[in-house]
Amino acid sequence: MLGLMQDWPLLIHRVIDYAASQHRDRAVISRSVEGPMHRTTYGAVRLRALRLAKRLERDGIRLGDRVATLAWNTWRHLEAWYGITGIGAVYHTVNPRLFTEQIAYIINHAEDRILLLDLTFVPLVERLADQLPTIERYVVLTDGAHMPQTSLRNAVAYEDWIAEADADFAWASFDENTAAGLCYTSGTTGNPKGVLYSHRSNLLHALANNGPDYIGLASRDIAMPVVPLFHANSWSLAFAGPMAGASLVLPGPKLDGASIHDLLESTGVTVTAAVPTVWLGLLQHLDATGGRLSRLRRVVIGGSACPRAMTERFEREFGVSVVHAWGMTEMSPIGSFCSLKPEVENLEGEARLDLKMRQGYPPFGVEFRLTGDDGRDLPWDGTTFGRLKVAGPAVARAYFRDDTPILDDRGFFDTGDIATIDPNGYMMVTDRSKDVIKSGGEWISSIELENLAIGHPDVAEAAVIGIAHPKWDERPLLVVVPKAGRTPDKADILDFMRPRIAKWWLPDDVVLVEEIPHTATGKIQKTALRERFRDYRLP
Ligand code: ADP
Repeated sequence: MLGLMQDWPLLIHRVIDYAASQHRDRAVISRSVEGPMHRTTYGAVRLRALRLAKRLERDGIRLGDRVATLAWNTWRHLEAWYGITGIGAVYHTVNPRLFTEQIAYIINHAEDRILLLDLTFVPLVERLADQLPTIERYVVLTDGAHMPQTSLRNAVAYEDWIAEADADFAWASFDENTAAGLCYTSGTTGNPKGVLYSHRSNLLHALANNGPDYIGLASRDIAMPVVPLFHANSWSLAFAGPMAGASLVLPGPKLDGASIHDLLESTGVTVTAAVPTVWLGLLQHLDATGGRLSRLRRVVIGGSACPRAMTERFEREFGVSVVHAWGMTEMSPIGSFCSLKPEVENLEGEARLDLKMRQGYPPFGVEFRLTGDDGRDLPWDGTTFGRLKVAGPAVARAYFRDDTPILDDRGFFDTGDIATIDPNGYMMVTDRSKDVIKSGGEWISSIELENLAIGHPDVAEAAVIGIAHPKWDERPLLVVVPKAGRTPDKADILDFMRPRIAKWWLPDDVVLVEEIPHTATGKIQKTALRERFRDYRLP
């Protein structure tokens, strides 16, 4: 027997309809790519999304067609998501930090028909255009006054283009499992793989993440997703913000410490989210200028492990609460948050920081398994390492146009992360399975060593890789970027680490470098580092 409740499919346009109805005048503030600040509202975003939807249909875009975006976080990119999905087409966010061959590969693999791009990327796309046969039209996200001369096919300024349609348009209706968004994981080996989100998965993910223990937005909040829309759905904020009626601040192309600080203070941001590299930049800027964080209450940090020193500084020096989050593109992307359950609520000092180093526990809608290589479940005792596997309605079951099975016999997806889970359910990532260092048959966690090294006052960034060793198989090498103007002593860094770890975990050597390579999503590129130090001789 079926229930007798309404059939109300979970479609993305309902989010902007809701925001425009209940929070119509709430501000959406952006730093534009052209330079000046721009201010609009949810009411206006909805009307422009409707015009875009109508204009897309006039260009022949239909249910299931892919429309690519190569763009920073601005109001135009936001309304594009709603306009594209409002006719059942799919937004394909292209990460501009990918190698150019990868950009061409994913646009061709997705068979994108239209590419919406920011002014910043016009030269890049002009160089690539003859490798992009499926793109019928390039829409530059700007107005006629800023439109450059360009060789791009059927190029048009976005403002002129949507001006050709009015907002008298009804959103299309279709099944909630219809594809809505496409995001390729950068992948350190092989070609990037496409993760295809549905309307349903995006909405369930945003609803779950908006609980008070997680991102927890309220209509009184001013939320700034620094994490780009092209990095794994901007961690749901483009949906969670309007769903909660929170104001949005979109930082455009400027993600350096000074620009972020300026936005935080001038717009009164209360909640923000980004990868550790962004916060490193902000903290360095605050060090240099003596700046404060007057309105910010909560910062969500994920994408790579949040260093202990970062949590400590935000919480103790600036009074900003840190929520450590973990996830991956395949999970829409959020899989866990480290908020405090009553079991650990009263922890203080170092014990509290120890807990906050963990990546936390999943919200409703994500299930965890910890297994050995043989697929058997391992205990949640806080010390046993295993493969972390996940299941849920916003977790991928396959990649786009790829028949390779990706779920185990119980329907769980292997994250490729090695983790422990403690008896309270708090998960801690110790490594990517391919980055783990095996010494004398035991595992050393590179993430833990990196976090520790970063606590040294002269260290700006740290990476640990395994170096082949005749006796121990592998031994850890610590690669360090010193803070500006500092030249730390190797022995001093090791002395700092020694009392805080097991003796055999201590890196065999320390190398100072000017820069550590990063992936397109801001993670340390261990493959590149391993390549660079392939022939390194440990002392
Ligand atoms: P990519 O950057 O390769 O496209 P993702 O952004 O999906 O892919 O990266 C997912 C991976 O990032 C996770 O499997 C995990 O290894 C790492 N990661 C994400 N958040 C954290 C975190 N808080 N701590 C440690 N590792 C993290």
